[in-house]
Amino acid sequence: MKFALSALLGLASLVLAQDPNAAACPTATRTIQNRGCNKSCAFSDCTLQTTIQKPCNCPSALPTATLIAPCEADCPYQGCAIDFRTAALPCPTTPSTTRRWTSTTSTSTTKKPTGVITSVITLPPKSTSTPLPCPKVTSTTSPAGCEAIRCPVPTCRATSTMVVPCGCEPKTVLFVTGCATACAEGCLTRTQTAKWIKGLLAVPFVLYSQPHGVFEGQSTTSLTQTGEEAHRRYSEILRDVELMIDDHIIHQNDPENPFPSKLKLLVPSIGPFFTRLPLEAAFKFQDRKRYISSRRFVSPSFNDVRLILNSAQMMAVTTYGTLQLATFDGDVTLYDDGESLEPTSPIIPRLIDLLRKNVKIGIVTAAGYTTADKYYARLHGLLDVIANTAELTPTQKQSLIIMGGEANYLFEFSPSSPHLLAAVPRERWLTPEMANWDQRDIAQLLDVAEAALRDCIKRLNLPATLMRKDRAVGIIPDPPETTRIPRESLEETVLVVQKILELSSAGRHRRVPFCAFNGGRDVFVDIGDKSWGVNVCQRWFGASSSSGEGGIKGDNTLHVGDQFLSAGANDFRARSVGTTAWIASPAETVDLLDELAELMGKKMS
Ligand code: IMP
Ligand code: MG
Repeated sequence: MKFALSALLGLASLVLAQDPNAAACPTATRTIQNRGCNKSCAFSDCTLQTTIQKPCNCPSALPTATLIAPCEADCPYQGCAIDFRTAALPCPTTPSTTRRWTSTTSTSTTKKPTGVITSVITLPPKSTSTPLPCPKVTSTTSPAGCEAIRCPVPTCRATSTMVVPCGCEPKTVLFVTGCATACAEGCLTRTQTAKWIKGLLAVPFVLYSQPHGVFEGQSTTSLTQTGEEAHRRYSEILRDVELMIDDHIIHQNDPENPFPSKLKLLVPSIGPFFTRLPLEAAFKFQDRKRYISSRRFVSPSFNDVRLILNSAQMMAVTTYGTLQLATFDGDVTLYDDGESLEPTSPIIPRLIDLLRKNVKIGIVTAAGYTTADKYYARLHGLLDVIANTAELTPTQKQSLIIMGGEANYLFEFSPSSPHLLAAVPRERWLTPEMANWDQRDIAQLLDVAEAALRDCIKRLNLPATLMRKDRAVGIIPDPPETTRIPRESLEETVLVVQKILELSSAGRHRRVPFCAFNGGRDVFVDIGDKSWGVNVCQRWFGASSSSGEGGIKGDNTLHVGDQFLSAGANDFRARSVGTTAWIASPAETVDLLDELAELMGKKMS
């Protein structure tokens, strides 16, 4: 039984045991403060426990007695609650009239003439050492109606155990009601997924690959058999991971189930999946292309696993549902870094094909320009084809939008505009949360980022110049054509700026989300990130489709990008609002779109 200190301010009471043998049974005595003393003890956030041994035949309910402490006494039990537990002693084999029981280390008994046995709790000595500081715990509850925040992997949860010293005053728990603004850190990224699966595949490679066959002149039959064996074992492993993900999806979709999935136990930080991932089929597809099982010296690599995950995702968005929205990053995904989408790009006919199949397209790029001419310069190859083709209906032509500066500038296709794009005023597309971003917070955040970037240029002696924009600040190589900032310096800069921003007053309160990232040649800090950008696309097209108010759903959305690993990884942010594919070059985007087209074609036929 547990007495919370909040309930300790009652009157003293003496409870006699009901059993005929009560004289031999213990009574728990608790000490309380006299209400008249007007002395407050700490709210009970700690508990002392004591076990009282109950002799045979004593009543199951432990009688309790309450003593009122004198006003000058310290808070009873050092301000903690007291929890009396009982342990029933076995009955003696030979009956005896006088039952004796042994006290525990913290409890002793005295037989009183009244026939009541009072147990005296020996309190632990008051610590004379410097007390530990009382931790501040803030418990935030979200009211209904909070929009889900976009985290790299949503709803992932970090758990930590905190030791609260006894008698901490004032109260250590602060209850706050408000919408969550911060994401838990350390959640499983696609990088970790790929590394983890790669680790699983390394085992059969080590056990079954036969590199010595090269020297011993193995027969073709034997080599084929080795390859088949590796193929079978890799397939089995990927099938097992696939089943583990299926089990995880069942858990994630059942809020009533308190038990974690096996995958969650193995990887506590893993987040939810928008679709299941047919990894075995995806492996077989990639094995036919990349001959993974035929290799005897090079084990399944990170890139192999990345491409297997991409194929599985392509299969999933076309098999288990319908792809409604494809969003694409710009640099490295649609065109080489810093280049433009030229009319000769093989990506253009593939994007037109998607539009023809009524898939909406959003180009979600960090490149932030306020005017249409700049985006036309980067995307003219695609825009000109859309303007002139007879293959697309007017509605299909309107199914292309550009979301620039991560989530800051929206342009729609406009055949009558000089640059084939028309800026859409913010009030038409900002989500309610984005509309709450205060201009002063934005300016303050960018000021802090600018100062941090300037400091990095100086400290790391970077061959770079600062570029401040309306919704972004960055450093670019100087002179741009001939200079390259070392990769390590770019990564260091991102991490320094990110930390400074997180600790700044603007960043700490998370009133405005930001994305600091290594762009390969430069570093930028943007207001918002691609999760917001993709979400705006989902809502923009969702409003005009059957998806309704909330927009196109995550399992009907695919974001294709290259930045999932480097510091800041701006495409990875989209992982929290839809499915993703991670490519490493525009050529890989072509392959991916071919794979997608084939799967969509199969589904339609
Ligand atoms: P993305 O790969 O299409 O997202 O484009 C990222 C690249 O856009 C960065 O690496 C920069 O080179 C370039 N860029 C131009 N303006 C901006 C900006 O305002 N913010 C972030 N990146 C920008
Ligand atoms: Mg990119």
